[in-house]
Order: sequence, then C-alpha cells, then structure tokens
Amino acid sequence: MYWTHIYFDLDNTLYDHEKAFRKTILHCADEMLTRKNASVSPDKWFDVFKHYCDEYWEYYESGQWTRETYQINRFQAANKTFDISTFNEEALIFQDQYEANVAAFAELFPGAERLLNELSDQHVRLGIITNGSNEVQRSKIKELRLDTWFKDENIYISEQVGIAKPDLQLFYYAKETKGNYLYIGDSMSQDINPAIEAGFDVIYFNSRQTASKSIDKAVPEVISFQELSTVIKKY
Ligand SMILES: [Mg+2]
Repeated sequence: MYWTHIYFDLDNTLYDHEKAFRKTILHCADEMLTRKNASVSPDKWFDVFKHYCDEYWEYYESGQWTRETYQINRFQAANKTFDISTFNEEALIFQDQYEANVAAFAELFPGAERLLNELSDQHVRLGIITNGSNEVQRSKIKELRLDTWFKDENIYISEQVGIAKPDLQLFYYAKETKGNYLYIGDSMSQDINPAIEAGFDVIYFNSRQTASKSIDKAVPEVISFQELSTVIKKY
C-alpha cells in the first residue's frame, strides 16, 4: 500500500447522508404534522421541504443568510405551502430534533466496513476530516461505530479545530506527520480542490452521482465503495 494515511470526509462519503436526512426529517415531520393536526402526509411535506432546502441553499452558501435564517426559511416556506402556521421558534425546535435524531438513522455505505477492515489490517492510518458541529458529528461517529477504525486523534471536526473546509489550514493541520496522504470526499469545492492544494492525493467519491463535467480528468472518480476499493488496491 502506497498510502500511509487515508483520510475521509464524513457526510455522503462514509455514510449516505441524503438517506439519513430523509429518514430523520420524515420522523420529525410526522411528529410535527400530528401535533399541528395537519392532513398532509410526511412524504408530501418532505418533498416540498427538500425543494426549499435546495432552492435556498445558495443564499446560505453565499453568506447572504445565516445558517439559522436558512433553517427557518425552508421550514416556514414548506409549512406555508400547506397552510400550516408555525412560529420561527418552531423551525429551530424542529432543527434541534433533527440534529438529536440524525445519527440514529445513519448507516455506512455498503462495502465501507470491508474496506476499512482491510486498510486497518494493512496498518494504514485512517482519519476523518469533516465540517460540522462537534456534538452532531461525534454522535454520528459513535452510532456508525467508526471508532472501530478511526482513532480519536485522527478525527478532525471543523467546530472543534476552529477551521472549516475549504480552508487549506484544516488539511495542513491534519497532515502533521510525514507520509503519503490520500483524501476521499464527495465535494469538489469542499474536499477535493483544497485537499489537492494541501498536498494530498485525492479520490472523488461521487456518491450522489451528480453530473461531473467540470471534474479534472486527473482526479480519479468512483461511485461506490467497491470501485473505491479497486482504485485504492492498485497502489
Ligand atoms: Mg460530504
């Protein structure tokens, strides 16, 4: 094995965040809609909520809205569609419920456990570099039993470190000892481009199978852990 260190992004790289997000929102929406005596099904409500998550994302990503404003507006827009009246505070309570439950709905991608076992057997140092709140990311790590393969000292969470991707400093910080480093992530802008700049080899894990026309041809791209395993074993 050429690489001494293999680091992973967490959301949509080690586990299917889209799936966990849907399951958790359905769970929270079911409770909220029952409490509101609303006749809409959680599935229908989710589709509209998801539509606003995607539509409003650019306002948050570009910094025009705070995270809280984004969370309030997507929740309120979905409820307005179904004539459900809710206060802004209820959006934040809904968000808290989501965060408290999402870890329980997370599952590793098929094939992840097998690859992590194989890499551990080869004494590759495994790490995680993720953005997010320390509490939420730690609870996912615990529920997914990732501590089986990842030592605490090799887990870098943006809130805990105080630096967030795509800031190169987070990658430099994680790359503290000599060795050959590989980083695997599902976002070109947040994971792949900054990791390359910080001196990592990279594999783009296109887990959501989005069109990837803009991807640099030199960046290996995979869509499953089976493919990822094949690429890694070539080295
Ligand atoms: Mg990700």
